[in-house]
Amino acid sequence: MASLNSHSKDLSSFWNGKILWDIPMSQYSTLKVGGPAEAIISVANVEDLKRLVHWLKENDISWWIIGRGSNILVPDRGLSGVTIVLEGEFVGLEKIENQPGQKDKTALIRAGGGCLLSKAVHFCTANSLSGLEFAVGIPGSIGGAVIMNAGAWNNEIGNLLASATLMNNHGKVFTELGQNLGFTYRGWGIEPNTILLDATLVLAIGIKDEIKAACNRYLELRKKNQPLRESSAGSFFKNPPELSAGRLIDEAGLKGHLIGGAKVSEKHANFIINTGNATATDILNLMHFVQDTVYKHSGIRLEPEVHILGNEG
Ligand SMILES: Cc1cc2nc3c(=O)[nH]c(=O)nc-3n(C[C@H](O)[C@H](O)[C@H](O)COP(=O)(O)OP(=O)(O)OC[C@H]3O[C@@H](n4cnc5c(N)ncnc54)[C@H](O)[C@@H]3O)c2cc1C
Repeated sequence: MASLNSHSKDLSSFWNGKILWDIPMSQYSTLKVGGPAEAIISVANVEDLKRLVHWLKENDISWWIIGRGSNILVPDRGLSGVTIVLEGEFVGLEKIENQPGQKDKTALIRAGGGCLLSKAVHFCTANSLSGLEFAVGIPGSIGGAVIMNAGAWNNEIGNLLASATLMNNHGKVFTELGQNLGFTYRGWGIEPNTILLDATLVLAIGIKDEIKAACNRYLELRKKNQPLRESSAGSFFKNPPELSAGRLIDEAGLKGHLIGGAKVSEKHANFIINTGNATATDILNLMHFVQDTVYKHSGIRLEPEVHILGNEG
């Protein structure tokens, strides 16, 4: 990959909009750690995104896309190249016409890749659409949720995906049916460096009070079980098949374990929290310590759910 350093003037003259240079990624991550992104560009429409992706490809510059940073860990050395954030038309959300052959008791919504997941949950509740209640309290964007196949309470967003509009790393835009997106536990099967532009979700027509009540129940459970006042990225490790990562960490005696400013939450052992002054290195060191200790204790190697961006990933 070429260095952006030697192309920074070219990028400034190519891109008409604002470019943020050397901004700490701690400002873009719910873990509140991470070194500087060389350049951050917010993109508001498909044509601009296409142009940018082409330019980056032509100049062999690395790039990253982020949503709301609630499932990423950026190393202290930061991110080289261009970090892309979706805004403008990508934060849109609408109810769309039913498709031919669609069941009567269902409805479709289309949400942009940069739209907040919480906005979609509220929209569904307000329009008496049921299916997304499980996602209440999950921070982040639709793009992040779809590529992570975000889920809770035995449900996941992949189950609702009718289709998605995607852009590959050549700037080609294409549509894929949900069933072809290869959803797995906390992941999808689409090539890396594919950008989710929008997602169409299929919801059931439901009863508003019941939808509200389910959301409230899930929120209460989150408040009770998760350290929501601390800076974290949610569950740090994936649950191994049929097992709970939190329980394995707890059984290895790691609740409250501290490295630098990074700590295993006492409230929920699968949350690594930033106590205030953690670095990304503290979090990575604690991650490795937890993996090694749990392995020694149970023979199981935990795999991070959090995406580690940069070369570390
Ligand atoms: C308190 C808390 C609770 C949480 N609870 C849950 C939970 O119950 N269930 C759960 O599944 N997760 C949970 N999470 C994790 C996180 O909120 C979800 O994974 C969320 O969907 C990530 O969305 P994001 O926009 O923040 O993505 P980011 O963290 O910004 O990015 C995550 C990944 O998605 C990629 N990405 C982001 N946008 C796009 C796009 N448009 N196109 C292509 N790739 C993209 C990024 O490159 C990165 O690899 C929790 C996090 C916190 C802090």
